[in-house]
Amino acid sequence: MNAVPPSSEPHVMPTYGRLPVALSHGQGCWVWDTTGRRLLDGLGGIAVNTLGHNHPRLVPALQDQTAKLIHCSNYYQMPLQEQLAAKLCELSGLVNVFFCNSGLEANEAALKIARKFGHDRGNDSPEVLVFEGAFHGRSIATLSATANPKIHAGFGPLVPGFVRVPLNDIAAVEAAIAAHPNITAIFLETIQGEGGINPARIEFLQALRRVCDQHDLLLMLDEVQCGIGRTGRWFAHQWAGIQPDVMPLAKGLGSGVPIGAVICGPRAAGVMKAGNHGTTFGGNPLAMRAGIETLKIMEEDGLLANAEAVGATLRGALTAGLAGVAGVVEIRGQGLMLGIELDRPAGPLLAQCLEAGLLISVTAERVVRLLPALILTHDEAREIAARLVPLIKALLAQPKP
Ligand SMILES: *Cc1c(COP(=O)(O)O)cnc(C)c1O
Repeated sequence: MNAVPPSSEPHVMPTYGRLPVALSHGQGCWVWDTTGRRLLDGLGGIAVNTLGHNHPRLVPALQDQTAKLIHCSNYYQMPLQEQLAAKLCELSGLVNVFFCNSGLEANEAALKIARKFGHDRGNDSPEVLVFEGAFHGRSIATLSATANPKIHAGFGPLVPGFVRVPLNDIAAVEAAIAAHPNITAIFLETIQGEGGINPARIEFLQALRRVCDQHDLLLMLDEVQCGIGRTGRWFAHQWAGIQPDVMPLAKGLGSGVPIGAVICGPRAAGVMKAGNHGTTFGGNPLAMRAGIETLKIMEEDGLLANAEAVGATLRGALTAGLAGVAGVVEIRGQGLMLGIELDRPAGPLLAQCLEAGLLISVTAERVVRLLPALILTHDEAREIAARLVPLIKALLAQPKP
């Protein structure tokens, strides 16, 4: 018996259930498939394509960099690393940066910093407080920090040293810290992405900051998905007026070129010393140039304000279109990071949206997730809603499975 279903890509390991479409090129928030069909991109490569596709200033900058220097070893000084690091510190108010290539790598580095921070204080088995609903990546350590049992399944034993409590429950946090004196860090997504667009409340974030100061813990905010302007601020925690000690970033920072970064504040910036951590590709000139140009264009074109304003239009159109529709549990999120929770599995919408010329995602089984490029226009936002709303209504009009 053949356990693997027939695939049009038999040599690609079947780790994803892929939709039957292949994209050939894109322009702004639109993409074309290999048959020439035009689709509206409401997903932005999962919050990666900050500037959309084929951006007229990003592409020439990358072409220029490719012709100069794509990669060089971290054995040498890299002015582009210093330039991007300085910009990230200016925007975050933090102190220094370690560059890597992805979200899980940024989170691995953060977890190493949390452990080393403990060891430096004489704590030989440091623990990290994590949350229900969390997603931090799929390496062995970051999947252990992740909450979803489906992501754990088949990959045990999990890495020890994680204590898990519910999100937005400060009493549970304080109880866990009292019960586990080895905790050295509190680690969470400012807005949970894969978990279903679940924001940490502003008062909760502020309380975590106080708890971390009081107990000498690191506050580590995973902004891999919600950072880089998506919510209308550079970083989602800035809405709460607090600063983390450690902030992993990735997805949108390179507008599609793989990049990760961990930004550290004063309490964490000195933890890693020469020889403690490293990466071959991390901080390469091509990725640095992508990050520098992304942030520059975001500033020049006012994309934070755009994310906030167009996000409000999108949310408004969804809210109006779905008003009074039974089965819509909640529309939530911030800026251009929005989730629509339904009372039933939303999976069927993936193929239906594709049919209607719209790319979306479904996460946490029942949540439709929108993460479009930050260059989205008001008209495009209304068009996303116009294509999506009738399909959600039709799904919800069927008997609940
Ligand atoms: C996507 C994501 C990650 C993992 O990033 P990869 O680049 O896929 O390794 C980690 N944390 C959060 C919050 C994410 O959304």
